[in-house]
Amino acid sequence: MTDKVHLGHRARKRFGQNFLNDSNIIDKIVTAIDPKPTDNLVEIGPGLGAITEPVVELSDQLTVVELDRDLAERLIHHPFLGPKLTVHQGDAMKFDFSSLLKGDGKLKIFGNLPYNVSTPLLFHLFEFADQVEHMHFMLQKEVVNRMVAGPGTKAYGRLSVMTQYYCHAIPVIQVPPTCFKPAPKVDSAVVRLIPKDAQQRSAKSTKVLNTVCLEAFNQRRKTLRNSLSNLMTAEQLSDLGIDPSLRAENISLSQFIEIANWIYDNKE
Ligand code: SAM
Repeated sequence: MTDKVHLGHRARKRFGQNFLNDSNIIDKIVTAIDPKPTDNLVEIGPGLGAITEPVVELSDQLTVVELDRDLAERLIHHPFLGPKLTVHQGDAMKFDFSSLLKGDGKLKIFGNLPYNVSTPLLFHLFEFADQVEHMHFMLQKEVVNRMVAGPGTKAYGRLSVMTQYYCHAIPVIQVPPTCFKPAPKVDSAVVRLIPKDAQQRSAKSTKVLNTVCLEAFNQRRKTLRNSLSNLMTAEQLSDLGIDPSLRAENISLSQFIEIANWIYDNKE
């Protein structure tokens, strides 16, 4: 068997398949998720079931979204997991997570995410923030660092601003490459995401907030006066109390929201 074959399945690189193969780390992830029998649990990319199995032992209802047809089939026909799972074969980036809501209970979403699509997948998931109680995701460590980075640091960027707009983000577990099969080339980390209350999210349009971040961080060495020149003037920034000679990396989340709300009120 090659390093790429795990439990009889050849890992598919295009689906970002690196399977967890370390019971100690799996235990830590399950402890962080803390599944309860009545929880409305959702796993993204269950793969061969490394996290699925121990979660199902603690909770009888688990919905999984898996893109790989072979792996989805394996789970559907799995002798003891199958009957307890609702398997959706498809792309989690197109999945309507709100369709899984039942009654008042919010969703608890987790997964060892495919690293090749983790950022667009996170942005898709943020759209369901109001329907989610918490999320736990294994990601590339560098991505987790960017999610939690604050202004004035190199890692601070659009992902930091948008993550922290929607969620409280807390790194909970560090994971070396040796815990996976095949081993990825990068270090990994698990992040806990707890969506903020809607009242705490004061952007009038998240689309505009995202556009402002894209423009501002696109050329991060430029001052706001230049990077945002398509959207507003230096004088208009000064009127908001924001120094136009600052760079995006020095602008706080609340300042980005102020800029986005000004643009929404004056341009949209
Ligand atoms: N959960 C398993 C584990 O920890 O061993 C597998 C994790 S592996 C890093 C990522 C999983 O996500 C794979 O099973 C892969 O097929 C699946 N996947 C990749 N892209 C996906 C997508 N867009 N939507 C849903 N699942 C996806």
